[in-house]
Parts: sequence; C-alpha cells; structure tokens
Amino acid sequence: MTGISIENISRKFGSFQAVDKISLEIESGSLIALLGPSGSGKSTLLRLIAGLETPDSGRIAIAGRDVTHRSVRSRGIGFVFQHYALFKHMTIRQNIAFGLELQKAPKAKVRTKVEALLELVQLQGLGDRYPSQLSGGQRQRVALARTLAVEPQVLLLDEPFGALDAKVRKELRASLRHLHQQVNVTTIFVTHDQEEAMELADRIVVINKGKVEQVGTPAEIYDNPATPFVMSFVGPVN
Ligand code: ADP
Ligand code: MG
Repeated sequence: MTGISIENISRKFGSFQAVDKISLEIESGSLIALLGPSGSGKSTLLRLIAGLETPDSGRIAIAGRDVTHRSVRSRGIGFVFQHYALFKHMTIRQNIAFGLELQKAPKAKVRTKVEALLELVQLQGLGDRYPSQLSGGQRQRVALARTLAVEPQVLLLDEPFGALDAKVRKELRASLRHLHQQVNVTTIFVTHDQEEAMELADRIVVINKGKVEQVGTPAEIYDNPATPFVMSFVGPVN
C-alpha cells in the first residue's frame, strides 16, 4: 500500500500562508488532481509531499510511514515538472536509462526496461534520437518514462503539460491515463485547468488560498460544488 496521509500541514513564506492546515487521504494507486488557480498553494503542497519543502507544522505519511522529517530520496517519489529537463547530449534511450544506471542496474535489465518504457509512452523507434529532434509533447513523455524507470512509489506531476498547446495537452492526457492504468502508481497531478482535472482524475482536490475547498470525484464536484468558489471555478461555463 502506497497511500498518502496528510495531516494538518501548513507552510508560510514570510507572513504569507501558502498552505493552511491541509489534511488529505490519498488512496494507493489512485490518480488525484490538485486543482486551483495560480498562487493557491498547489506547487507548495506538492513540494511538501516530495520533501522539497519543510512544513511549519503537520505530518505526512507515505505507505504508512511518517516521512515528515525524512529526506527527499527516502520517500520513493518521482517528480515531473512543467519544464522537462532532459539531458540534451544524450539520446532518448540514454535519458530513460540514466536513473537505472545510477542504481547500477545490470545492463541487460536496463536494456529490456528501457524498451518497455519506450513502448509504454508510445515512442517506439525514437530511442536513438536526441531531445532536440522531438516535439514538446514527445519530450514530456520521455520525462515521464525516465521518472517511471526507477519505479517510484508515488508520482508527482506539477503542471506537466502546462507549456504545451491544447492539442498536444489532449494527447498527453490520454497518454497519462493509459500509463496510469498500466503502472498503477499513486499519482498526484497539479493543474489549474478544470477540464484536464475532470478528464483525468479519479478524485479532484480543489484548492484555494492554501485551503482545501472540496474533495470528490469529478462528477461529485461538478454536480455538487460545496462552496461558491468551487461553483465559480469548476461549475458549468455560462
Ligand atoms: P500555485 O502552484 O498554486 O500557483 P504556489 O504553491 O507556487 O501556488 O505558491 C503559492 C504562493 O506562495 C504564491 O503566492 C507564491 O508567491 C508563494 N511562494 C511559493 N513559494 C515561495 C517561496 N519559496 N518563497 C516565497 N514565496 C513563495
Ligand atoms: Mg504551481
């Protein structure tokens, strides 16, 4: 079980309360969207889960283990950001293999795994290309494959498709859904795009001003918005 349990977590920057007593239970294997406007604290919450930020108070447990004061490395987390940071001088295959080689995985195992990952993100045949020869959407799929290569317990994605155009974003949504079905890793996906959250997530966490406004399935949130904020942010477009 790799569920995540967040209890009363808070984080201030100066006098600004970026994350304000958030509690959340995230089920093992689920695909969760953190949805909210810019500046609402989504990235800060994700960074707290990853251990890239330290909370002022509260606790976080992953797979039943309190990790609040544990290092980033010990948390078993894979992180994909908006701006894919692929190694420019390495081929796609080498990029995906990078983490596995750091772990000193046997060569044959690396080879098999990289091919499986290329297939998983639908980039078969492009393994020998360099990042500059790929489109933005393809590069972001390489970033996903590279992150999944080391089998994280939890996958965190911070607006991973944010820099791409609408058509590519749609394709990547389908990719991510497919991938999640195959790998079934507990995934938290940050977005400010309600359509993206509705289409992708098992459950949506709506965040505003550092607080959780509502947690529910896309249908629950759409049909029964709990607050005026949720209604205006997620509700039917007038
Ligand atoms: P979101 O991802 O929802 O856009 P963030 O979590 O990035 O929101 O930021 C929430 C607020 O916290 C923003 O107003 C931002 O300026 C502030 N903030 C985030 N990180 C820092 C930091 N390291 N130092 C100071 N302020 C920060
Ligand atoms: Mg952000």
